Amino acid sequence: MNQKLALISEHASPLAVVGGVDAGGQNIAVAELAQQLARLGYEIDIFTRWENEQLPQLVDWKSGIRVVHIQAGPVSILPKEELLPHMAEFMANFVQFARSEEKPYGLIHAHFFMSALVAADAKKILNIPFAITFHALGKVRRISQGDSDKFPAERFAIEERVIREADQLVALCPQDRDDLINLYDADPGKITIIPNGFNPDEFYAVGKSLARTLLKMDPDEFTILQLGRMVPRKGIDTVVQAVACLKKKYGRKTRLLIVGGESDAPNPAVTPEIGRLQHLVELEDVADCVTFVGRRDRNLLRYYYSAADVFVTTPWYEPFGITPLEAMACGTPVIGSRVGGIQYTVIDGQTGLLVPHKAPDALAEKLHLLIQQPQLRKDLRTRALRRVHQDFTWLQVAQKTALMYQQLGVARPVSLGVAKTLRDAIPTAQLSRSA
Ligand code: UDP
Repeated sequence: MNQKLALISEHASPLAVVGGVDAGGQNIAVAELAQQLARLGYEIDIFTRWENEQLPQLVDWKSGIRVVHIQAGPVSILPKEELLPHMAEFMANFVQFARSEEKPYGLIHAHFFMSALVAADAKKILNIPFAITFHALGKVRRISQGDSDKFPAERFAIEERVIREADQLVALCPQDRDDLINLYDADPGKITIIPNGFNPDEFYAVGKSLARTLLKMDPDEFTILQLGRMVPRKGIDTVVQAVACLKKKYGRKTRLLIVGGESDAPNPAVTPEIGRLQHLVELEDVADCVTFVGRRDRNLLRYYYSAADVFVTTPWYEPFGITPLEAMACGTPVIGSRVGGIQYTVIDGQTGLLVPHKAPDALAEKLHLLIQQPQLRKDLRTRALRRVHQDFTWLQVAQKTALMYQQLGVARPVSLGVAKTLRDAIPTAQLSRSA
């Protein structure tokens, strides 16, 4: 079957600037997966909603990859929670584009539930298989966010329908697979675990003292990094409270760098979560310990990761979590909450440390342990570097994805080598955990 693929990612464009409320891991995942698939020889079109009139509808993005902006509702930025009513128009315009192409698509890979809805309807017309990576599941989100989850209630029924109709489902980690089975009654035989990844050309250790010099940071201060989208569910308040606990209970003054937001200078007017956290910083009396950095370009992130003594991420839930991989790739030990994909990438006591979410005292205790034990930091670093390079580069992710496409009848391009079967491609530990 045709090696020309349609990747649909209705709200997360590979061209977006990442770090704000609605642009994060999914944008990175779609962009990186597409680039590695193109490198393997596939022809890739990425379909995303047209939200910026300055951009043409058809962009020749990189060799072998086009980004197609599909009109669906007003050509302006809308929160992802408001996009569902525009998906019928997205579907019609996507099908029209697909039919106008000389060479047909061999398969649709949908990212997120709304793209999956488009794919399920398009399949009936175009008669091609489709796979879904959800990136986040509505029921998991609702359990942890309750009423603050503003997605329409139809999301659950749509997810149930597309899970039934999809030809393959990608789970990002064993927890994601369990959620698909236990919360949605998904057929286990249709699920393949394929994680997200990191880019080794972007994320590598640059040396702590060099990184700190470049970022004009204190050379000696014990530094904790928090980096990612600034939304309440990321649990950044827990990190602030842990820093306060370190100061009060353990008498340790540390530096917490908080990177992320909608603007390069931290601005509560455009990133409300920054305002909420600034208030908490005052309340906890740690203004002397916490620095809000703002959003930073991707080509600077390795310096932030490398400059830190420890990277902390304590979300309430996490479908996968790319940032711990990036930190590990830069040789920085990770403390993460024992949720979702973090408990899969971070092996407690081996490649990092895990704590319960919303538990600042437990986090402070682990931070104190790392402050006191430089040898433990070194050991975690060595094992983490090995783990991420063994299993989590985007090239490895694309190879596993290519094997899944093959199961759906899309022949592998000749340049694809390395793993011969799906079992070869997936690490044994992953298979036994998910069994
Ligand atoms: N990110 C970034 N700039 C920022 C903050 C975050 O480029 O200022 C990137 C980060 O490096 C990572 C992605 O956004 O690649 C976040 O992905 P993750 O899976 O950790 O979280 P999500 O955004 O999916 O919730």
